[in-house]
Parts: sequence; C-alpha cells; structure tokens
Amino acid sequence: MSTPALNILLVEDQASMRQALAIQLRKQGHRVIEAEDGQQALSLFWSEHPDLILMDVVLPKEDGYWTAQQIRLLEGSDWTPIIFLSSRDTELDLQKGIEAGGDDYLFKPTSPVVLSAKLHALTRLQRMRMQLIETSEALREANERLSHLSMLDELTQLGNRRSFDEKLHLSVKNCARDQQPLSLFLCDVDLFKAYNDRHGHIQGDACLKEIGQVFRSVCQRPQDHAARYGGEEFALILPNTPRSGAMTFARALQNMLARLSLSHPDSPFGCVTLSGGITTIVPDATTNAQQLVMRADQALYNAKAKGRNCYFSFEMQMDTYEQLQSVHGR
Ligand SMILES: [Mg+2]
Repeated sequence: MSTPALNILLVEDQASMRQALAIQLRKQGHRVIEAEDGQQALSLFWSEHPDLILMDVVLPKEDGYWTAQQIRLLEGSDWTPIIFLSSRDTELDLQKGIEAGGDDYLFKPTSPVVLSAKLHALTRLQRMRMQLIETSEALREANERLSHLSMLDELTQLGNRRSFDEKLHLSVKNCARDQQPLSLFLCDVDLFKAYNDRHGHIQGDACLKEIGQVFRSVCQRPQDHAARYGGEEFALILPNTPRSGAMTFARALQNMLARLSLSHPDSPFGCVTLSGGITTIVPDATTNAQQLVMRADQALYNAKAKGRNCYFSFEMQMDTYEQLQSVHGR
C-alpha cells in the first residue's frame, strides 16, 4: 500500500506533538507544512494549497472546528480532506467535527500504521472525486458540442430551422422588452428547381453552400442570425434593426450574389438570384414569431409575383395601401 507524496498542512499547537507527527509524516515521504494556530493555518492553506490537512481540535483562540469551517468557505467547490486530531481523554465530538467540514479523525498519539492507512484512504477518495469532476466536465463539453451541432445546418454551416425558431422567439422577447425594432428577412433562391433539374443535386448543393457563405459574410453583428429555413430558403433575423437597415442587408446580399454570378441559364437574369420578404416591427407582449414569419412570407410572395430578384417589405406595402385608401376616401 503506497500513498503518493502529499503536501500536508499540520495544525497542532503543542510543539512536541507537532514535531513527532511531522517526523512520522516525513518518514512516509510527505512534505509537511506546520501551523501553530487557526489563523496561521488559514494563511498557509491559502498560500501552500495542501493536499490534506491534519487539524488539532483544541487550539489557542479559534479551535479546529472553526478553522475547518473557514477552510470549507475559502475553497468553495474544491475539497481538501481534513482529518481531526484529538486526545483520547478529551473525547472528540465526532458529529461536530463532521458538521464543521471534517472527513475523519485520529487519536493522539497517532499510530504510524493507522495514520498511513487513513492518508491512503482519503487520497483515494480525493482521486475518485477528481475523476468524477473530469468525467462531468467531459460530459458537459460533449453536450455543448452536441447542442451546437443540433442547431447547425450541415450543408451551409448556417443555423438550421431549429436554431431559427429559437433565435426568432428569443429576439421577439428581447426586442419587446427593449422596445426596439426587429426585422426578419426571408429569402428564396429564384427558380431553384430548374437549377437542380439542369445541373443535378450535387451542383445544387454546391450552389446553396455558396449562398450560405454570402449570408455568413453579411451577418457580422453578434446579435444577427443567419439560418437555412428550408430547402432553398434562407432567413436573417436582425434584432434592433429598422426597416432601412434591413433593406441595406438585402441590397448587400443582392450585390454579393451578383458579383458571384453563379450561372443559371434557365433564369431570365442568367445567374442565381434571390427574392426576399422583409418585415419590421417593434414587438409587444402579443407578438409571436409565427406572425413575423407569416408577414415576411407574404412579402416574399409579393417579390416573386413582381418578377423575382427583388425584395419587398410587408409594412411598406401596407403603408402604400393605407395611403391609397385615405386618398380615395377624400
Ligand atoms: Mg491542541
């Protein structure tokens, strides 16, 4: 039975007892840090980071229980094993020792065999605890990776539909709270079925990948979110963004795509283009994500009806309609 060499903080006010114990421990190959009272023990605990503490119960001024409690407070979620030392005649209040944060106790004078066995047992416990912490940490990281992957569209590396739903819901809540405009921008690749029919699905996927890259490059602000909404549909969630800002995003997308000039012989434009629908509102408590999607969808439908390769704002169309009504009403 061998215990690895430990850094042991020995807290004992009687010099002769302390020396005898220190000799025992050093013989067993451990390094010993000596403290005469509780305060000294605390400052050495802080500076030396011992692996284990041997703590006399009866100390001048603050006793061992108090000192153990302070150590437990200091180390937070860490755990340094504490063994209380007690004389056989001053019967150790075990319950009190455990409540104060102790893990075991020893009677003085200590037997080298018993001392070595207890050090070994506690070291083993501590090792198991460390393994448990490492395993939990590895699990937490794996979960984080999984959750990230479950939000990602594999082809375009944009957010997937699930992440879109979550982000939109969250953005509605945040913008309602801050009374800020929220813009949603839904896009559709024009005549994509014809593109796939002519070039095949492999080329179709490559095209979607390129468009995904364009979305990623315009989506630079940390709160913005680009997602692949469906097959050839993309979405931009733009919190704290008025209609004019959303229009700027739309133009940037259109320009970048035009510069890419992905050939599309079956399109009247000769290259791959997007149609888009934008909705912008300052949400309130009654707003939900579905309403926003319906509005953007309606605007997208209008952009398609107007001949594609253009963007339409749901609210601007409404504004125009209301203006017309008031003109005719006069
Ligand atoms: Mg004492």
